[in-house]
Amino acid sequence: MLCPMSTEATGTGVDEIHILWTSEGMSCDGDTVSVTAASLPSIEDVVLRAVPGIPKVHLHNKVLAYETGDDFLAPFRAAAQGELDAPFVFVVEGSVPNENIHDGDGFWTAMGNDPETGKPKTLNKWIDELAPKAWAVVAIGTCATYGGIHAMAGNPTGCMGLVDYLGDDFRSAGGLPVINVPGCPVQPDNFMETLLWVLHQAAGLAPTIPLDEQLRPTWLFGKTVHEGCDRAGYYEQADFAYDYNSPKCQVKIGCWGPVVNCNVTKRGWMDGVGGCPNVGGICIGCTMPGFPDKFMPFMDEPPGGSFSSALLSVYGPFVRRMRGITNRSANTEPKWRHPGPKLTSGYQPRYPESV
Ligand code: SF4
Ligand code: SF4
Repeated sequence: MLCPMSTEATGTGVDEIHILWTSEGMSCDGDTVSVTAASLPSIEDVVLRAVPGIPKVHLHNKVLAYETGDDFLAPFRAAAQGELDAPFVFVVEGSVPNENIHDGDGFWTAMGNDPETGKPKTLNKWIDELAPKAWAVVAIGTCATYGGIHAMAGNPTGCMGLVDYLGDDFRSAGGLPVINVPGCPVQPDNFMETLLWVLHQAAGLAPTIPLDEQLRPTWLFGKTVHEGCDRAGYYEQADFAYDYNSPKCQVKIGCWGPVVNCNVTKRGWMDGVGGCPNVGGICIGCTMPGFPDKFMPFMDEPPGGSFSSALLSVYGPFVRRMRGITNRSANTEPKWRHPGPKLTSGYQPRYPESV
């Protein structure tokens, strides 16, 4: 039975919560699919309350739901009316089209019908109704956070990220700005860690989630791809790959890692495995607000890359040669380790007459 929803903004004492997750933005559902691979924690851990301290969670995501049609939409409609039986986290997947630019009828994207009109209910309308009532609003993936591929130059839909749509001053019922977890798709554990923080905060067990200026969790996006890359040693020695079969640094074949905030080179993609440049994929900056336009054309050397690699080429080959010499020496055992009749280790007896 439904009763008035709590709009308490303190975050203390929430012991039951809904996650209303729409992927009806302009998206490929890739973030939902990605999150099914999470393990730190997994969706199952959260829904089954295997993690101590979190509220009881009711997940509503169309790809993962058993319900369809009106049954699936019921909690969304209740929340829009302020009649859901517990607070909710609103998760938005996909970029937000601009429904104000149509000449006549029509819409870009919708989720279900509006019972009042019988017409499709646009994502914009859902956002207008749900975002201010949500305890927290989380944008998942680069499309929802910053617009992503659908929002690149020349697009016909005028689409944008959720903060572009709601405005910088937006605050949820829990007093939070939109929380952005970018990635194309999102790294699964990045999203689940963020969600876990929000759930613990709602339960009164965590402080306010720390976000950077682009509203990304600071502990996830505070470092660059390059700073965690398995290939960074090659970069430092100006030892570059010139084709995609090489294990060396890929900056000359299009890697933007030195200037991109993303942690997948440190944490991998699934269970610690992967992480684009670690496994041969150039970083194309998919977590960044400027993606994709500012990183195109892909596979060309980034503009700053040629300058920094030119500087590195002055000392990199010399450092590499010197390290090669030291490495060969370190790979050789000291000469006093032999079975000959004479000790040559340089041992100095304290009492020579006793030897
Ligand atoms: S492959 Fe990319 S991220 Fe890795 S060291 Fe080279 S430039 Fe940096
Ligand atoms: S390394 Fe680059 S391309 Fe790969 S997920 Fe991170 S930002 Fe995206």
